[in-house]
Amino acid sequence: MPIFEYQCEHCGQTVEKIQRIPLAEVPCPACGKNASRTVSLTSASVSTGGGCSAPAGSGFT
Ligand SMILES: [Zn+2]
Repeated sequence: MPIFEYQCEHCGQTVEKIQRIPLAEVPCPACGKNASRTVSLTSASVSTGGGCSAPAGSGFT
């Protein structure tokens, strides 16, 4: 199941939720305000440096 990340606009607390379907916002565990969904960094950081971009001039275009 994917992990969705939320960030509280009030206190900046980040919340990670394992959900099948992402919600627009979840209650912040720290202050109780609404935390809105952000782009998940979990999958993005893993794919960085995985060879997605070949160096220019390597003949791999
Ligand atoms: Zn908060």
